[in-house]
Amino acid sequence: MKRILILLSTVFCLLCGCAQNVTSQTRNFFAMDTVMAVTVYGDTCEADSLKAVQIVQNLEKQLTVTDEKSPIWQLNATGEAELSEDAAELLRRALQLREETGGAFDPTIYHIIKMWGFTTGEYRVPSEKELTDALAEHQASSIAMDGNRVTVSGCAVDFGAVAKGYTAAKIAAELTEAEALNLSLGGNVQLEGTKPDGSLWRVGIKNPQNTEEHLGVLELKSGAVVTSGGYERYFEENGVRYCHILDPRTGYPADAGLSSVTIVSADGFLADALSTALYVMGLENAVEFWQGRTDFEAVLVTDSGDVYVTEGLQNSFSGCEFKVITR
Ligand code: AMP
Ligand code: MG
Repeated sequence: MKRILILLSTVFCLLCGCAQNVTSQTRNFFAMDTVMAVTVYGDTCEADSLKAVQIVQNLEKQLTVTDEKSPIWQLNATGEAELSEDAAELLRRALQLREETGGAFDPTIYHIIKMWGFTTGEYRVPSEKELTDALAEHQASSIAMDGNRVTVSGCAVDFGAVAKGYTAAKIAAELTEAEALNLSLGGNVQLEGTKPDGSLWRVGIKNPQNTEEHLGVLELKSGAVVTSGGYERYFEENGVRYCHILDPRTGYPADAGLSSVTIVSADGFLADALSTALYVMGLENAVEFWQGRTDFEAVLVTDSGDVYVTEGLQNSFSGCEFKVITR
């Protein structure tokens, strides 16, 4: 009798595809000023998905610039603060990336971002004098870290370009019991483990000219996929479009000929920081930067609609014509 039951259950499993019967839990929520979705696969998905949401909420409190209770708010208001382990680690890595990108990515330009109203939504174009003064102040600014104690002078810190990527990486590092993860933190995607049906993860890349459409699709085994685009937040004045990604060297919105940059990397923080940095750099400098590194791949879309894909992604990207960038 027992043998018959085992045989029957084996046949049932084969017919139903038990391998695909992995449980999963998706949680949709709003945090860090954006819509998020986390899907966890595996027996511990219920508790793990809850833990993922808690990690986001906990990091949001530590990394936000707008909440008076956050140490970053205090740092910007008083010039000094003791940061949490995570905020200090993020700041250390962000300052390192500022060096590596020659200042295209700069986590200390919050005072200039504020002038444009990008944090409040009360948009305005600052006068040339305001921007010149702010840039001069920024050039003379300083930031110092002594352990987790930070002091700033003449500048202000903002993790807007990296908080979501850092958070996604942290969730991936902490949920070690999960069989697979699909995190979408406001468009910052992080994929870990194999999908229950064994197929590759698919991530659509928006068409910057029409964000209702996808330009193409990336098929990947795992990793972070992060896109920066001027279309994500901008305002228009006198027919000119001003986007939320600033060129720290001019104080003006980046205008280097790219309309979106997607970075694929095993490291969520890096993908987030570099999507912003390469958008500021423009195609030529972005290609040169990529040629000097091995820790990421990219899809770059120019203002005229041309699509460039670094060679590591040439077999993973499809859906439109593209040029391959080689080393
Ligand atoms: P992202 O969407 O990841 O490219 O991040 C854009 C956000 O990062 C903006 O809304 C600003 O808060 C901030 N930001 C803008 N320009 C820069 C820059 N050049 N370096 C670092 N952060 C920036
Ligand atoms: Mg970014």
